[in-house]
Amino acid sequence: MTDPAVLDQGEKRSDRALVVNEIFGPTVQGEGPSAGRRCGFLRLGGCNLSCHWCDTPYTWDWRGVSDAGAAFDPHKELTARSIEDVLAELLAMRVPLVVVSGGEPMAQQDRLIPLLRELSVRGIAVEIETNGTVIPSDAVLGLGVRFNVSPKLNHSGDPEHRRIKPVALRKLGETPGVAFKFVCQSLADLAEVAALRDDIGLENIWIMPEGKTQQQIGDNMRTIADETVRRGWNLTTRLHILAWGDKRGV
Ligand code: SF4
Repeated sequence: MTDPAVLDQGEKRSDRALVVNEIFGPTVQGEGPSAGRRCGFLRLGGCNLSCHWCDTPYTWDWRGVSDAGAAFDPHKELTARSIEDVLAELLAMRVPLVVVSGGEPMAQQDRLIPLLRELSVRGIAVEIETNGTVIPSDAVLGLGVRFNVSPKLNHSGDPEHRRIKPVALRKLGETPGVAFKFVCQSLADLAEVAALRDDIGLENIWIMPEGKTQQQIGDNMRTIADETVRRGWNLTTRLHILAWGDKRGV
């Protein structure tokens, strides 16, 4: 979990600055309903959870608590970037879609609004990848972004009261085109997804195998694929891992 004070470290600061981990592209969206679509990636720093298998611990893990086993340095990983800088870098990619990810990007939702507005007026679609713990503001909801919501299951290691926020999930569930994407390793995980769906009323469910290697993704995919289809849900791979392996910046 990121100490909020860490988010205010960086090279230059302003109220409008975004705390950025990395910007990269053109690439393709690797997961979910838009997998394979050409896009640019904006990865913001900081997360309010601490999933032990997190694939981006360099955005939040300053103490070495994740499976990566390394304590990352926020002074190296986080940079305060103005909206103008970020927008210019994304526009230079000439992509039809920008994916805003993290960490947990919705922790910076107010700072994101000017960027989302600039992208919207240029006809560039935006998807926000969120863990579903932050209630979206009406201002963000008015900007036409599509949410890929990935609530974390028991195997992430965080207690339920931190990772499952019904009010936020229900509000996100009302947004156009929303997809709920669950990282799964086992059939028990799928049963947990079903219980959440029934409790909260989730629709458009996507199941994604956990894994940072082709081998792990393949093994977990084979475990969960039949049951995912039987339950009437969608299945997604992690295209960027299959194409480029566990590399940053792709
Ligand atoms: Fe990592 Fe996402 Fe979990 Fe945050 S919510 S710790 S970014 S997997």
